[in-house]
Amino acid sequence: MEGYIIEISNLYTSFFIDTQVIPVINDLNLRIKKGKVLGLIGESGSGKTMTALSILRLVPSPGKIISGRVCFEGKDLLSLTNREMESIRGNRIGMIFQEPMTALNPVIRVGEQISETLITHKGLSKKEVREISLELLKKVGFEDPGKRYIQYPHQLSGGQRQRVLIAIAISCNPSLLIADEPTTALDVATEAQILSLLKELIETQNMSMLFITHNLNIMKRFGDHIGIMYAGRLLEMAPVVDFFNEPLHPYSKGLIDSIFTLRPNEKRLKVIPGFVPRLSELPEGCKFHPRCNYAMDICKKDEPPMQDLGNERWIRCYLF
Ligand code: SF4
Repeated sequence: MEGYIIEISNLYTSFFIDTQVIPVINDLNLRIKKGKVLGLIGESGSGKTMTALSILRLVPSPGKIISGRVCFEGKDLLSLTNREMESIRGNRIGMIFQEPMTALNPVIRVGEQISETLITHKGLSKKEVREISLELLKKVGFEDPGKRYIQYPHQLSGGQRQRVLIAIAISCNPSLLIADEPTTALDVATEAQILSLLKELIETQNMSMLFITHNLNIMKRFGDHIGIMYAGRLLEMAPVVDFFNEPLHPYSKGLIDSIFTLRPNEKRLKVIPGFVPRLSELPEGCKFHPRCNYAMDICKKDEPPMQDLGNERWIRCYLF
């Protein structure tokens, strides 16, 4: 559809372990507007990373995408050949992962690692690639790109390595950047620098972004839209401002309460009672019902569908 860089419809991904089928993504529908950031929030095991891996068709074995559509730049990524998909990964879709040390090859110089992506996808000459790589290093904030170009990853700090990964991710001018917890391994000051760099790049390079995090505070400052995941489902999706002004889903309200409200007469942060269920032992009906203060009889029997409430708000809950 016009105006969206990616649209995921009815996506199902499962893991097949022995005789068990464990659904990790269930009926996922989400879309990202061109030039905007969608923050995907959820506790660990909620399906955020599996969403990213499903988009990239990198779900590890014994996992498998079962059905659905992932429309990106007019193509359904799930129907492409492996070769066609390889030409999109790292080229039209850039990726940044959580741990910069493991994402970089420790025995290859930084400059060569940036060049590699450009050679693979753009077929440029070595000289052209060196110049572009130096420019990219400058763009991500290195004042001495020549020196960094010949260094190895272990000679850089965590924040510097993440900048190198961002340089690689944007090297082919992708239209979508997927960042999975890109600042989790960094200290607070470095995190702020990396976030402002990403924000600047999105604005200047005309990119869209899927930003995966468990940190609502980051999304409040950084995102345009927010999606809340729980047990492999999207429970709510909304523009960030509307979401923080008026979260609708009981789980969203609980999440916001747990981080933002510490009233004068309360000594402890509120936490949502109960635990995130195991994906292999999900309850019937609404997967949040054992923890929900508003649960009704129907919630224990039937799973609520995702509903479009208008004004870019979607919700999966019988209260609406
Ligand atoms: Fe609570 Fe029912 Fe809504 Fe689930 S569907 S969040 S149990 S009210």
